[in-house]
Amino acid sequence: MKLAARVEKVPPSVTLAISAKAKAMKAEGMDVLNFSVGEPDFDTPKHIVAAAKQALDEGKTRYGPAAGEPKLRSLIAQTLSQETGLDYKSENIVVTNGGKHSLYNLMVAVINPGDEVIIPAPYWLSYPEMVKLVEGIPVIVQTGADTGYKITPEMLRQAITPKTKLFVLNSPSNPTGMVYTPDEIRALAEVVVETGILVVSDEIYSKIIYDDAQHLSIAAAHPESYKYTLISSGFAKSFAMTGWRIGYLAGDVNIIKATTRIQSHSTSNVCTFAQYGAVAALENSQDCVEEMRLAFAKRREVMFELLNAIPGISCLKPDGAFYMYLNISKTGLTSVDFCNLLLEEQQLAAVPGQAFGNDDHIRLSYATDLTTIEKGIKRLEEFVKSKI
Ligand code: PLP
Repeated sequence: MKLAARVEKVPPSVTLAISAKAKAMKAEGMDVLNFSVGEPDFDTPKHIVAAAKQALDEGKTRYGPAAGEPKLRSLIAQTLSQETGLDYKSENIVVTNGGKHSLYNLMVAVINPGDEVIIPAPYWLSYPEMVKLVEGIPVIVQTGADTGYKITPEMLRQAITPKTKLFVLNSPSNPTGMVYTPDEIRALAEVVVETGILVVSDEIYSKIIYDDAQHLSIAAAHPESYKYTLISSGFAKSFAMTGWRIGYLAGDVNIIKATTRIQSHSTSNVCTFAQYGAVAALENSQDCVEEMRLAFAKRREVMFELLNAIPGISCLKPDGAFYMYLNISKTGLTSVDFCNLLLEEQQLAAVPGQAFGNDDHIRLSYATDLTTIEKGIKRLEEFVKSKI
């Protein structure tokens, strides 16, 4: 059967291929260490689970409004207003099936065929594929360790053409863990306001930052950037709720209405009782978020120190999220070969940078326990030694 051309443009995921191989090896009884996961290894906090159970018992099992449960929309608006100092109302919020869904719906809502979307590389692997699925053109701007893998205002300005519709900003970043400083965000906001392009700010890791890093939303970085900014976020990473599938998009009322319309004809509302778990997440103490952040912070220290001691690879210390992005160029291997061999020879799963737009890097996740980190980095060291 002939598939639609837009689907043919989207390649199968290299990440899934590696993780399928890792799973198969594990099933054969091998001691595979998995550094490829993009989700917290913690269980969802108990009070959130209890609230969803209670919602089930109370019969919150029916269709709900396409834009989300009013209580959750209102709490998200309140929280965002507190965090940004801006005035978000419920009408500025649509609840989605995860952050991924909010980004995809936004693309469907604003991208016409041929519209350009600026994506700094290294990027989260789904951004360019989403753009292609809606027949837009991903404009990839390569960044390197010299700018902390961040796009500069000059790079952004140069990439803008009359066809530019949207700029995708992700801080803290997956895969690099870099966080833009408030000054860097302000400088990008100037370009956005001056040129009038839309920006989607993917802030899904904004609660997972370390040391002196500060998160400033581009929506609040310039007196006028609010009207050009859509914030995409969700509960998956900060509340360990990956399987719940709850995210949101926040911004201009017309765009929110459009994405709600798209949702009403595609997925309808997000699972009703799951939304009550998210209500509990926002209504109660944020100590659980902090506990998980502290655990990630400890793992980050240990992993970074161990990695730094390995000759031949280099890595910047991440300021956020739970990933380290390693330059493996001295091995002379492509990232896919590196990861395949690493898995075969040392039973260590990592994600090839090719998935993120850099074939001489790999991504390691530290959303795993300290013992696994220590054991895994020893294996990595053995592997790198054997290749240089
Ligand atoms: N944005 C980034 C940068 C991510 O890393 C992820 C998940 O890996 C998402 C969005 C999507 O998260 P969700 O599980 O809420 O769809």
